[in-house]
Amino acid sequence: MIQAQKYVPTDREQTFLDTVEESRYEREIINGLAPFFSEKAPEDMLSFYHKDEVVSLKVLKGTDRDVESRMPVKITRHYYEIAKTSPSIQRIVKASPDETNDLAGSEDPGNQMDYSPVEGLLHKYEMGLMYVVSTCSAHCRFCYREELIARKEIARQDGTVKKKGLAKIPEITAYIREHNQIVADNGGRHPESGREKLREILLSGGDPMVLNNGKIAAWLGALAEAGVESIRIGTKEMAFYPQRFDRTFFEMLDRFHETYPQVGLHMMLHFEHPDEILAKGPDGEYIRDEQGFLQWIPATGEAMRGFATRGWITVENQAPIIRGINDDPDALRILQREFKRAGGENHYFFCGRDIVAYKAFNIPIEKAWQILNDSQKGLSGIEKHARLSITHYKGKTEVAAVTNKPIPGLKGSENGVVIFKILRNAGGAPDVGKVCIVGRNPDALWFDDYEDRVLFDEAGLFDYTRVSKSGEAPKSLASSMPMTGGCGG
Ligand code: SF4
Repeated sequence: MIQAQKYVPTDREQTFLDTVEESRYEREIINGLAPFFSEKAPEDMLSFYHKDEVVSLKVLKGTDRDVESRMPVKITRHYYEIAKTSPSIQRIVKASPDETNDLAGSEDPGNQMDYSPVEGLLHKYEMGLMYVVSTCSAHCRFCYREELIARKEIARQDGTVKKKGLAKIPEITAYIREHNQIVADNGGRHPESGREKLREILLSGGDPMVLNNGKIAAWLGALAEAGVESIRIGTKEMAFYPQRFDRTFFEMLDRFHETYPQVGLHMMLHFEHPDEILAKGPDGEYIRDEQGFLQWIPATGEAMRGFATRGWITVENQAPIIRGINDDPDALRILQREFKRAGGENHYFFCGRDIVAYKAFNIPIEKAWQILNDSQKGLSGIEKHARLSITHYKGKTEVAAVTNKPIPGLKGSENGVVIFKILRNAGGAPDVGKVCIVGRNPDALWFDDYEDRVLFDEAGLFDYTRVSKSGEAPKSLASSMPMTGGCGG
């Protein structure tokens, strides 16, 4: 148990914090369905929900199919303006009665709390993930952090049941210092977990960019002083409210970089669809300039330039592939091409996870691979860095290939095979690079749908024992999903 003292910034840290300037932001957020039920939302936004949709959502209110108790509803004015002309974007934030037709799924995908040594911190790899806030400017219906955002009570491995708490600077920095001291004293690895130095932290939630500059700066300074070498900020705010990335924010980052030039900073953005970044004309088509370049939504393009012109920050995009939103190779091709052109890197696309009501959102693993593969036809080498990741309990795993033809002499491969490859692995990462080959199942949504057709498994994806404090038997692979953040996973 970490006993944290009251946190006192160092002189260097305080000097940085003293430079931080705040702005007032006018996100114009519509919170919940009530403003639509009572017709108190701004008049021009009321038509976002058709009268019939309002009736069917109202009927569910207070029942066990209430869409808002599964995942709170929220939208910004900026995102509403985009959604008006984009069915894909509407599906990201617009509640639908279909969401709660089937509530199968896990309240805590991946048993994440198994890896939480301090409230608000998940520590599995050399990277730690922190919940620093439990909301975002708008809410995605398919969010992987719905249990945090809806403030649900989660059963933990020690038998207690409570809401996930948020990270606090004194406890987190005390834990990092203690862990890293033990690792240093033990020749580079923790004697029990085998983990290395905790050198990288992802600020996640919820969305850290809903915090003011001072709170973000306090985290950056405290983590830098605790010896963290690299900090990521996971955010979808660039889609929901790009005006948040203003002069005061960038100046805060500049001062941080001047104070701690050795600390790496990485923005992990979350765009699903090109409609979130590209400007459209009245005809609904993307606008091109006279040279044929696609035009970005002005505030989004401005924010991207803010990052791209600061060579010491990297900007990466990662997003799930979700049914009805971006299960479209053409849309993904444009997104990857444009994001790279603006100076970003395409990092991961994800297979959907077994959140509560996942059947309303997920597409089969093999279909997701096909869509991403098709989207990368016609992209240049530097544009198609993104891989399809499915996050096994052991660590991030790539869906590396799906074949259509049998492998001669390999029984079970008659309809082709799927090849998984481990990208990340806890502790000393012994299994990174190992593969698992299964016979195809075009309906498979998760690993357990392949349990009866494993052909080769040096990765051990189908022979896995959950970390257990009580020595109990492993849970099924269906619930064996690991640590990933909401935005920035
Ligand atoms: S955490 Fe990310 S995915 Fe979840 S609602 Fe917020 S922005 Fe959407």
